[in-house]
Amino acid sequence: MPLLRELKFAFPGSSVAGIGDPGRLTAPQITGVTDPGYNNVERNLNVEQIARALLRANGAARIAAELRVEWNSRLKTAAGRADYRQKLISLNPRLSEHPAEIDRTLRHELAHLLAQFRAGRRRILPHGEEWREACRDLGIKGERRCHNLPFPVRRYVARFVYRCPNCRQEFPRVRRVRRAVACLACCRAHNGGEFDARFRLRLLSSSGGL
Ligand SMILES: [Zn+2]
Ligand SMILES: [Zn+2]
Repeated sequence: MPLLRELKFAFPGSSVAGIGDPGRLTAPQITGVTDPGYNNVERNLNVEQIARALLRANGAARIAAELRVEWNSRLKTAAGRADYRQKLISLNPRLSEHPAEIDRTLRHELAHLLAQFRAGRRRILPHGEEWREACRDLGIKGERRCHNLPFPVRRYVARFVYRCPNCRQEFPRVRRVRRAVACLACCRAHNGGEFDARFRLRLLSSSGGL
């Protein structure tokens, strides 16, 4: 059963719209759909369209079509998350308690993708000059790496993506995993829940710029 069948809230309109800007999130209604590929996750097609238009307006049409935006209730303290490799933005469903923050959070996370797109293979700092420039282009000049929300939030950027060699589940991590860590689901299914080196997570990708 979807956690968010439908979210309804009004976004405050905004006059701050740049050239080629498809507009702030002003739609009175956001509907989520369950993405069968994920648990506790709903894609948000309405927000996704706006986000894609923002990327296209900023010369990133090539990744715009791949972009997905989801509500992810597994985000506990983070308002949002950007994963460049998967072209995925995750938003905390608790943002629905603070509708005015959704648009800004979306743009903050989009700026991570835009900055990395422009940088190509070059490594960039998560909140460095490239990101700040992308923020300006996305209409949130002066955005800070974290802004205060009424609930404690922390944004994080998954710089390391690990994958189980068996079930191929991916495990995004902020930090490099130093210990030997195996996929719990596979260890449970095939080894009574004990550590099994066959299911040890493997580093799929890492980036300083996500
Ligand atoms: Zn950030
Ligand atoms: Zn597994």
